[in-house]
Amino acid sequence: MAAEIQPQPQARKPCLLSKIEAFQDVVSTAVIIPKEDGVISVSEDRTIRVWLKRDSGQYWPSVYHTMSTSCSCMSFNPETRRLSLGMDTGSICDFILSEDYNKMTPASTYQAHQGRVTVVLFVLEMEWLLSTGQDKNFNWHCSESGQQLGTYRTAACVSGLQFDVETRHAFVGDQSGQVTILKLEQDSCSLVTTFKGHTGNVTALCWDPVQRVLFSGSSDHSIIMWDIGGRKGTAIEMQGHHDKVQGLCYASHTRQLISCSSDGGIVIWNMDVTRQETPEWLDSDSCQKCEQPFFWNFKQMWDSKKIGLRQHHCRKCGQAVCGKCSSKRSTIPLMGFEFEVRVCDSCHESITDEDRAPTATFHDSKHCIVYMHYEPTTGNLLTSGTDKVIKLWDMTPVVS
Ligand SMILES: [Zn+2]
Ligand SMILES: [Zn+2]
Repeated sequence: MAAEIQPQPQARKPCLLSKIEAFQDVVSTAVIIPKEDGVISVSEDRTIRVWLKRDSGQYWPSVYHTMSTSCSCMSFNPETRRLSLGMDTGSICDFILSEDYNKMTPASTYQAHQGRVTVVLFVLEMEWLLSTGQDKNFNWHCSESGQQLGTYRTAACVSGLQFDVETRHAFVGDQSGQVTILKLEQDSCSLVTTFKGHTGNVTALCWDPVQRVLFSGSSDHSIIMWDIGGRKGTAIEMQGHHDKVQGLCYASHTRQLISCSSDGGIVIWNMDVTRQETPEWLDSDSCQKCEQPFFWNFKQMWDSKKIGLRQHHCRKCGQAVCGKCSSKRSTIPLMGFEFEVRVCDSCHESITDEDRAPTATFHDSKHCIVYMHYEPTTGNLLTSGTDKVIKLWDMTPVVS
C-alpha cells in the first residue's frame, strides 16, 4: 500500500554564516548593508566601522572612525547612504557613506536633546529625522536643514520608535511599558491613543505597514501584536521567550516575525495563523468548577466548614479555579502560549494534539543578544552579543 507523501513544511532555521569579532566593547547597534555584503557597526568603544566581505569570506573594515563621545543609536538609509548617529551628549551626527563604502564624510551635527539620544529614525519620504532622548523629548528635525520642526513630551524615556509614512503616525514605546501613537504634521503633532499592555519596559517596536500591525516587545518577556488594520482592537500576547525581548523584525515576504531575547533565544513566529485573544480573568469567591470557597470567602468557609483555597485562573477560558481543578498544564499556541500554562481540567480535555502544534520555532544564537537587525533583501539576520561578537545568520527557508 503506497504511503501518502506529505509535503515537507518549510522551516526557517538560522544558519550561522559569519562572525565579526575584534571589538574592544559591545556593539550596541549594527545594520546589514543590502546588496553590498557589508555591515555598519557602532560599538561602545566609540568606533563606527564599515565592514565589507572580502574574497577570503572574512569581513574587514573599510571605514574605521572613532567618535569623541559614545554613540547610543543609529539610523542608516541605504538609498541615500545616510548614517545618522545619536550621541550620548544629545547631539545627532549625520554622515554620508561613499558609493563603494570606503569613505564616511560628515554632513551635519546638531544638538537635538539634553542628555543621551535613545532612538533615531530617518524618514526619507518626509525628509525628517525623528529622535528621542533621555530628556523625554520626542523631536523631529528637517534632515536637510537640521532645523527642529516639532517636539512632544513623552511620559517616560523612549526605547522604541516606528513611523508609518502613509498616515504619518509615529509609534513611541517607552520605559513605563506603554506605546503612544502620535499623528505628526510638519511642525505639530496630536496624541491619537496609548496602548497599555506590558508590565515591563517596551524594548522593541516593529511596524508592518502592509497588514497594519504593530508588534511591541518588552522586558516582561512578552510580545504583543496590536492589530490596527483589523479595526477591532485585537491585541494578542505572544509568549515564547524566557528573558527580556531585545529585538523584533517582520519578514513580510514569508509572513514571519523574528524576535530575540537577552538569553540568546531567537523565535521565528508563523504569522499566517490566526491567533485568538486571551480571555479576561473572571472574578469569583469560589472555584467555578468544584465551588469550594477561596480563602477570603469566610462566610462560605464557615457555612460549609471548608478550608479556603487559593485562586488560580485557566488561561484558556479565564475561569477562577482552585489548584485541584487546574492541575494540568498545556501549551496553547493559537492563543500565543508557546510554553505550558495552567488550564482547567475541562479545557485540558478540549485541547487536541493539533491545537498544541507549535506556531513558532525556537533557536539558540549562543550569545546574549543586545541588538538584532534583519535585512529582507538578502534574508540575513544580524545579532550582536554581550560577548562583543556580531553574528550573521542566513534565514532563507530550508526544508526541514
Ligand atoms: Zn475546584
Ligand atoms: Zn478552562
